[in-house]
Amino acid sequence: MEGIVSDIDVTIVGGGIGGASLGGMLARAGLRVLILERETEFVDRVRGEWIAPWGVAELQRIGLYDRFVAAGGHHLATHIGYDELVDPAVAAAQPLPIGMLLPGVPGPLCLQHVVMQHEALAWACDGGADLRRGVADVQVVAGARPAVSFVHEGVTETVSPRLVVGADGRTSSVRRQLGLVLAEAPLDHLIAGLLIEGADAWPDELQAGGKVGDLHYLVFPQGRGRIRLYVDFDAADRGRFTGAGGAERLLAAFADMPCVPHADAIAQARPAGPCRSYPSQDAWLDAPVADGVVLIGDAAGYNDPIIGQGLSITLRDVRIVGGILTGGDDWSAATFASYVTERRERLRRLRASAEFATSLNARFTPRDLERRARAKQRTEADASLLMPVVAIFVGPELVDESYFTRAFHEQVFGT
Ligand SMILES: Cc1cc2nc3c(=O)[nH]c(=O)nc-3n(C[C@H](O)[C@H](O)[C@H](O)COP(=O)(O)OP(=O)(O)OC[C@H]3O[C@@H](n4cnc5c(N)ncnc54)[C@H](O)[C@@H]3O)c2cc1C
Repeated sequence: MEGIVSDIDVTIVGGGIGGASLGGMLARAGLRVLILERETEFVDRVRGEWIAPWGVAELQRIGLYDRFVAAGGHHLATHIGYDELVDPAVAAAQPLPIGMLLPGVPGPLCLQHVVMQHEALAWACDGGADLRRGVADVQVVAGARPAVSFVHEGVTETVSPRLVVGADGRTSSVRRQLGLVLAEAPLDHLIAGLLIEGADAWPDELQAGGKVGDLHYLVFPQGRGRIRLYVDFDAADRGRFTGAGGAERLLAAFADMPCVPHADAIAQARPAGPCRSYPSQDAWLDAPVADGVVLIGDAAGYNDPIIGQGLSITLRDVRIVGGILTGGDDWSAATFASYVTERRERLRRLRASAEFATSLNARFTPRDLERRARAKQRTEADASLLMPVVAIFVGPELVDESYFTRAFHEQVFGT
């Protein structure tokens, strides 16, 4: 194998939050790790900036939590569901104490995605991982001894590690090269995101979300007047927040939300990044593994961003796959069976939670609104019907299986 570097244990394709944190974890355990990242600099792609409490617990276990907090990580303490069907005073009197839901976790953690990416990669390199940035044309050949070739600074290199990890995001080329095809839920809503600054009148530790008119909005403060906003809207309205004036149209939508106190502070704030829209849907694989290759994070399939679980899912993938790789010498595909089984069930449950949140907030036909009104009445009378939403905060494994069934969904939304 002349010219082929074979003294690497793990080659990770993609140095996003998944690839970088796995690289840091493995390097700290003494494994030789090479991370290949396409971008030479990270820019705001409009991605996750809110880590659920159960994802924060994963961050703590991986060892990256203190670094994210030192870089400006901001905890949220309260969620209020300001919504067109609820009097604002009544909503404010029923806050969800999201800072107290999981022992040892002071609430969801918010931080700019590019800062997280930068910190995670720096943490990986500090731990001894080798990093190549600006790589192109990454080719992966699966097998008992897999091979990866790539172009870096104009030179083609080939490595033959013991294992390849595909952590190259939603449009993963590793996944495509393995011939693995995502199953996809039908697409009926899109999500647009925008970072804003100057929203000083919005309370720093308060997140809010609900439906107003033909939008489902989410407000995630990052401290000092910065907020990551998301809105879900009908997929037929594709261009609503894109192109020239898209950010301004998104901010203007908050000027017309009388049921959301302080929404004016958002309407009058300034964009601090691009405004982008994405399909808001689930996509999954039954088994994100092949001989000598394992996929993690979005590359392995992703959850509808409407419930903001992608970072937590990715961090759990990292912790589980990292545990397998540092826990023994057998790295055959069979060793990842526990990861495959756990992830399949985890994503199945989170698909049910995303469908619940979408039915509650992000469908807009008269029939959808009827179902929503029924569900609102029922959940107000019996808060236990909101368990699929509780799962978003505490983790899907802590909520009973019966809340993720079609029958339960119909019990809440059906006639
Ligand atoms: C609009 C939107 C809002 C979201 N909001 C939230 C939220 O609030 N909370 C939450 O938890 N999650 C959210 N998510 C999901 C979250 O952002 C993702 O789940 C998370 O970023 C996945 O991390 P990753 O490392 O798997 O992939 P990515 O973050 O996509 O990282 C992949 C990395 O691989 C690199 N790469 C890609 N291709 C190649 C290649 N061929 N060679 C080398 N490198 C490559 C990329 O440059 C990138 O650095 C949201 C997603 C969207 C789209």
